[in-house]
Amino acid sequence: MLPPPPPPLRLTIDLDAVAANWRDMARRSAPAAAVVKADAYGMGAREVAARLAAEGCRDLFVATWAEAAALLPLGPGLRLHVLHGLFADEIAFAAASGCVPVINTPESARLWRDAAPGRPCDLMVDTGISRLGLTPAEAAEIAPALTIDVAMSHLACADEPGHAMNAAQLAAFAALALPAARRSLANSAGVLLGRDYAFDLTRPGLALYGGALGPGHTARAVATLEARIVQTREIAAGASVGYNATWSAPRPARLAVLNIGYADGLLRAFGHGGQAVAGGERCPVAGRVSMDLLTIDVTGAPAARAGDWASIEYDLAAVAAASGLSQYELLTTLGRRFERRHIGRAAAASLAA
Ligand SMILES: *Cc1c(COP(=O)(O)O)cnc(C)c1O
Repeated sequence: MLPPPPPPLRLTIDLDAVAANWRDMARRSAPAAAVVKADAYGMGAREVAARLAAEGCRDLFVATWAEAAALLPLGPGLRLHVLHGLFADEIAFAAASGCVPVINTPESARLWRDAAPGRPCDLMVDTGISRLGLTPAEAAEIAPALTIDVAMSHLACADEPGHAMNAAQLAAFAALALPAARRSLANSAGVLLGRDYAFDLTRPGLALYGGALGPGHTARAVATLEARIVQTREIAAGASVGYNATWSAPRPARLAVLNIGYADGLLRAFGHGGQAVAGGERCPVAGRVSMDLLTIDVTGAPAARAGDWASIEYDLAAVAAASGLSQYELLTTLGRRFERRHIGRAAAASLAA
């Protein structure tokens, strides 16, 4: 068999931009970890972790043991923390892995104490988000039996700087007297709340991948999406486009049909204000996003031709505002059909190097 032709849609991930965004977080809050769960928000956990390790990042966070396994083995001096803790059927892997489990329940604290006595774990303490974590009372009771690296909590409203929850969670966290080597509270938006929130380690994710955290903050764009034009066509004024005929041409129009759709993560909400650059011009989406196709109005872009590449406008803050999706969703829903290419200074191919 001949090798297959390259896919008609590609996702370019700029590791120099990830590195610059991490350095910005570290400059504001040193030291900064890197959260690389969900395959580094879709940007490639191995590549991102290797590059950030080369930049001096020493602590990485993933959600699950499967995500941890995909990053092993780790080089010396790197710590991989696993946020979702431990079940009994995970303890053997966890203890052998060299990773640091984040303890969220008294049961998992007892499992770790018995299976890996003296080995470091983290404690997640719930200070108000009511998601994962021990209550402050549970944490205080359990802590003396454990060797704690990071005592942490997670902010519920860090992206709303004026929200009263921030100060309340900060006060609750600062009041914990736990025998931990380090304390950590802030995610990306928490870093921007100020030095009070930084403690000994911050845990940015979104900002590393280009997320904008509010007015006054910009990160370098990391993801570039491109799709090939499968076909162009001319339609008469009044002709409708796509499923349910939600868009009609206000004048004779020329359309380009791109090889990308909601199965690739460009959800239907992208139709609200979505744009692509084709033939050197910015062109609006016309009609509904289909599973595999996106139609744009290229009336003003006569140079756009079938077979050309069009780039999707994917400024995270702008697309989030127009679509109603979060910046997190815009990154993590990007699908598997893209040819993913990493650009920027090559990092060590393996985290163990
Ligand atoms: C996902 C996550 C982070 C990173 O949050 P961002 O908002 O992406 O910076 C930090 N800490 C915990 C516990 C998380 O679950």
